[in-house]
Amino acid sequence: MIRDHFRVLTVDLSTSRGNVVSLEGRDEKAGGSGLAALLFNKYGHPNKPWDDPDQPLIFAIGPLTGYFPLMSKTVGAFKSPYHDQYAESHAGGRSALALRFADLDALVIVGRAKGPVCLSVGQRHLEIKDVSFLWGRDVFFTGKTLRNMFPGGGHRSILRIGPAGENKCAFACINLETYRHFGRLGAGAVMGAKNLKGIVIQGGSSFALPGGKEYPNLFQEVYSKATATDMMSKYHNLGTAANLDALDKLKSLPWRNLQQTSDLAIKGITGDRFADDTLLRNMACSGCPVGCIHIGFVREKFMEPNRYLYRQVSYDYEPIFATGSMLGVTNTFSVLNIMEIVEKMGLDVMSSGVALAWATEAIEKGIVSEKETLVDLKFGDAESYKEAVRHLGMGSNEFYRLLGQGTLKAAEHYGGAEFACVLGQEMAGYATGEVFLTAQSLGFRHSHLDTGGYSYDQKHKDKNVEKVVDFLVHDEESRVFLTSMVSCLFAREVYNEECLADCLQSVGYTALADNMEAVSRHIQKLRWQTRVATGFDPKGMSIPKRFTEVTTWKGPVDEDYLDTLKSEYAKRILELAEDVA
Ligand code: SF4
Repeated sequence: MIRDHFRVLTVDLSTSRGNVVSLEGRDEKAGGSGLAALLFNKYGHPNKPWDDPDQPLIFAIGPLTGYFPLMSKTVGAFKSPYHDQYAESHAGGRSALALRFADLDALVIVGRAKGPVCLSVGQRHLEIKDVSFLWGRDVFFTGKTLRNMFPGGGHRSILRIGPAGENKCAFACINLETYRHFGRLGAGAVMGAKNLKGIVIQGGSSFALPGGKEYPNLFQEVYSKATATDMMSKYHNLGTAANLDALDKLKSLPWRNLQQTSDLAIKGITGDRFADDTLLRNMACSGCPVGCIHIGFVREKFMEPNRYLYRQVSYDYEPIFATGSMLGVTNTFSVLNIMEIVEKMGLDVMSSGVALAWATEAIEKGIVSEKETLVDLKFGDAESYKEAVRHLGMGSNEFYRLLGQGTLKAAEHYGGAEFACVLGQEMAGYATGEVFLTAQSLGFRHSHLDTGGYSYDQKHKDKNVEKVVDFLVHDEESRVFLTSMVSCLFAREVYNEECLADCLQSVGYTALADNMEAVSRHIQKLRWQTRVATGFDPKGMSIPKRFTEVTTWKGPVDEDYLDTLKSEYAKRILELAEDVA
């Protein structure tokens, strides 16, 4: 299965035709993030808008997918409806292994279907089916229907959108399997703009593993590190939800639209509380022995007396922050209930929660009223948020359609930009300090996982601009190699440089193993060059006033330090975007 080129399936929805293409570049672009950037540069149009039918929607995997544990992500790449620039979004589930067992390194979809369709691809098949009857249906119904329409188990991945994607909401995600997402920056709207309700990837082939002892021994070593050491045990145990309590203690957990960073009410929504009250089971992405996905339940009385139905909802730190503390909702079941509606609508949970927190404060301040929000939003009132999430997904009126393009877009129209919790996109749940604020605002994906800025804040009080910017640039460089391998970033302790080099070597990617540093620097530069070519100006990014009013464990945010960090990091990003070899 290893090859010195990339095997890419391109599909044009306008003509219903596909083509398998061989592309050079394995030794420089590796896969994942690097391959996605290569493909956008080949098929993308920097100067056309994100919803132009010619724009590609790209899914790319890495050279170690199928060979080693936790190489389980797929990199989605597209021009984003959020900022009309090049963007990446990552998801796990079964998508990566399904592509590997369909004998593909990437899938590129261009064009626009005449009406709503589902695309099914595999090693030897391509099928496009009319699914007009699914347009307007939620993510759950769509998933269930597509499972029946495209039978087959094993490495089969089902990607689909809900009403939010159809309505081209910039918070629309692509849901896959039942509990995973290409969450941020609006990949769901890109599918919506292509009239693409679903994608089924059937991984029906197989491939031989390397002979000899080196590969199986190394596999066992990696597997043991992931399962029998404490490197990843926290992810299986309470999961990322354990961060709720920890960040609240550090005065770094955003509460009620970041009007506070800690609150005694945290005891209602800690990781322990979720586990004690709601946890049913853990799940894992394909090829992952860790299983960090925590599944809780909600139940609903549908008939008197005592007739209940229950549904399963996955939870993590980020969704709990967004629909819990950020909205002042402090009951585990109420939080899960909001998350469930978010899932059905096909919305990104972080963006939705943060946007609705802004809308709530906008009501409090009299900037908007119930006339716009259609429900009387109040911090802590889960029922009103359930309604508001539906309106956001459906784009019920002008207010929700505007809010669904980004909180700052709504604030431009109604006012209230100073308390919009936006750092390049709606904030992640880490009010840890100046380094995180800089890192998310300017980071490539505007994700807390672009770099470890949130972690740096938790360990350092000093204000050394050069040291911080060096850290951000070099940390991004190492993470870019991991996302080009499509490793789960939770496994970054397991997959240190030496381990990655051994893994690549053991399956036959010797040139990549020997040049990891140069390759990761090249991909880092290529991604920035691609982003800048589509309009990104890091110098133009501003940080709303609300963030400068925050007090963390380090004390009040230092505005001068923040400004200097931001402008120095912007300079380094622009340098990175120059001169890609
Ligand atoms: S640790 Fe979690 S997110 Fe990462 S691959 Fe495993 S199940 Fe998926």
